[in-house]
Order: sequence, then C-alpha cells, then structure tokens
Amino acid sequence: MIEITTLVLLAGFAAYIPIPWALKSLMRKRFLRAVASRNAVCLTFDDGPDRESTSAILQLLEKAGAKATFFMLGKNVEKYPEIAAAIVELGHEVGEHSYEHTHPWTSGPIRSMKDLVRGGRMVDRYRCSDEPALFRPPYGKLNFVTLLYTLVLRKRLVFWNVNPRDYEQDSPETIVRHVKERIAPGTVILFHDGRHDPSSSCEATVLALKAILKEIANSGLATATVGEALGKHPIRNITSRAGRFEATPLTPRRIRHRHREGSIGPAINNTEILSRKRTMH
Ligand SMILES: [Zn+2]
Repeated sequence: MIEITTLVLLAGFAAYIPIPWALKSLMRKRFLRAVASRNAVCLTFDDGPDRESTSAILQLLEKAGAKATFFMLGKNVEKYPEIAAAIVELGHEVGEHSYEHTHPWTSGPIRSMKDLVRGGRMVDRYRCSDEPALFRPPYGKLNFVTLLYTLVLRKRLVFWNVNPRDYEQDSPETIVRHVKERIAPGTVILFHDGRHDPSSSCEATVLALKAILKEIANSGLATATVGEALGKHPIRNITSRAGRFEATPLTPRRIRHRHREGSIGPAINNTEILSRKRTMH
C-alpha cells in the first residue's frame, strides 16, 4: 500500500514539474528557431506597466522608431490602465505574464490557474489581434497547470535568448555590454519595465535602452515585435536612420472602435505620454 502511495505521489510530482520542464525545452528550441529566421531583434519588457519606467521606455522607442513587446502583469495593468493603453496606441504588442507573478514551481494548481486566468483577462482587454495571445510564463517556468492553460487556451509561449538580468543591475553599462555582445538576427532580449517587487527601480534598464537602441541601429538589424518575428505580420520598422514604418496591422480606426466598445482602457494622447517623461527626474 505504501509503495502504491509513493508511486502515485512520484507520478503526480513528475506530471506537475519535470514533464512540463522537459516539454518546455522543446518548445523553447522551436520558438527560437522560428524567430531566428527573421533578420530582426526583439525587445521584450516584462512585469510592467509602470508609470515612470514604461513611459520613459515608450518615449525612447518612439524616438528610435522601434516597436517592442510588453508582457504585462495583470495587477500592474489594473494600477496603470492608461499606460497599458498607451503601449497599444503607440503600436507596440502586448502579451500575458500572469496577474501577480506566482512562481509555477512553488504554487499549487489552483493558485497557479487563478493567477494565469486573471492575468490573461486583464491583458486581453488591450489586445488588438485575433492571433493566439502571446504568453510568457512568470520566471519562464512551467508547471502542469501552465502547460494545460497554454495548450487548451491556445496561447503562444514566448521565451528569450538574451537576459542581461537588468532586475539585478544598478549599472546600465553592464546591461549594455551584455546585450551588445549578443546582438544578432533572432535575438530576443528580456528586459523589465516593472517590478513584481515594487521596492527596486528600473532606472538602469531605461538608461541602458538608449544605448542599446543605438547599437541595434548600428548593427543594421531591424527591431520587431515577437508577433512580427514569428512571421505573423510584416516587420514595420528599422531602427536605422533610414527606418520608417512600412505597414501597420494596428489601425487608428480599430483602436477607436475598441475604445468605443469599452474593450480597451482610457484613451491617452501620444503627446501626453511623451511629455510626461519630460517632467520626470
Ligand atoms: Zn516576470
């Protein structure tokens, strides 16, 4: 009897963490192979939005003519709906990152599922595409529930291959150096524009981004959203001097329509979001 109980417990544990972990390695390889086929660099920002750092990042991206993907935390979207709306209105892409960043390996199935569903619902209000939602699991880790959530609700898992660990850095130079050495076609860079622990700041990320955008422009590569890099949409921008938008799947008419039907947060003016940074210190 004890042996059967032990076997059941072991099988349950294997199904909850190690099997999803093994599958994740395969999915990660497939994802990175897909983005490597496009001649572009993806800038991704997790754990936001945040009033100060996301606004500053949006301004830098706007200046460089670059587009990025923001994996927003539901609780921060709730806090800063106008910033989430500004991300979309400025033509960037948004994806899910759960509601409160619950660790998949230390949370039970019910807590995990609640966190994912709640976070997904918040971000869904700001999505302007009918494609499967992009989803970056907290800490990039999966458990059985995360896997189920992804497969059943047809989410597109998004990983990264460059992590400057900006959340541990006070020095923008260290972040720039780490990224600069790795800029290449198919690079997916993990940055953070917010914190699930609000005690630390994203200042180093903002300062580093300015230099990194210059490095990308000098390398002659385009920046792309993850959706573009996966081949869903044409790449709209090149961060070189010649770079201009070629096409945009997010039309003002569609944004206005979503505002009217109330499925997107309060409208925010581009000038307003950009001028907000000018008053920051
Ligand atoms: Zn995160």
